[in-house]
Amino acid sequence: LQLIAAGIDRVDAVLFTHSHADHTHGIDDLRAITIRRSAPLPIYGPAAALSDLETKFRYIFDDAVRPLPGTSKPEGKAHVVEAGQSFSVADLDVLPVAVPHGAVTVFAYRIGPLAYITDAKSLPPNAIASFRGASVLVINALFRTEHPTHLSIPEAVAAAREIGAERTYLTHLTHDNFHADLEAELPRGIYPAFDGLTVRID
Ligand SMILES: [Zn+2]
Ligand SMILES: [Zn+2]
Repeated sequence: LQLIAAGIDRVDAVLFTHSHADHTHGIDDLRAITIRRSAPLPIYGPAAALSDLETKFRYIFDDAVRPLPGTSKPEGKAHVVEAGQSFSVADLDVLPVAVPHGAVTVFAYRIGPLAYITDAKSLPPNAIASFRGASVLVINALFRTEHPTHLSIPEAVAAAREIGAERTYLTHLTHDNFHADLEAELPRGIYPAFDGLTVRID
């Protein structure tokens, strides 16, 4: 639904990082995108996440489930990808990077000049190395205090400094922070993200 507000009517692929509800339960909204396509929408992600999604949302991934005439379903094709093995989406190199997220390991992605980390508790040195050189970093930050499955705001700022992107946007933020307060106190080049934010990446 955020895509509708942003006026986006074409999507080339979907990258899943993991199968937690806050990142996947909008999956049915993909039908508005896939109904305009002649081929199923490629859906990439780690094996465990795609397998979870195939169980939870069988009607999307099972070709045997056909919508009744006059109805539709999201038409997606799942592709398992492996950490450290890049693949192409619309002429861009996409590299899945494994990061710890509490009890599970999830993927972050390096997509050309963009580093995108939605749910990391910490960043191992090889992950930092994979993200160095990105011009834009999107990284999760929850509270000011430590959290068992996510980076805190101070931890995210420290990781952002290590990665050294020109612009960093904090995402997955909570009700605990007011946007303007955070904007005022974050170091230069690090900003709180917000719904509807458009980032141009050359
Ligand atoms: Zn999660
Ligand atoms: Zn999450």
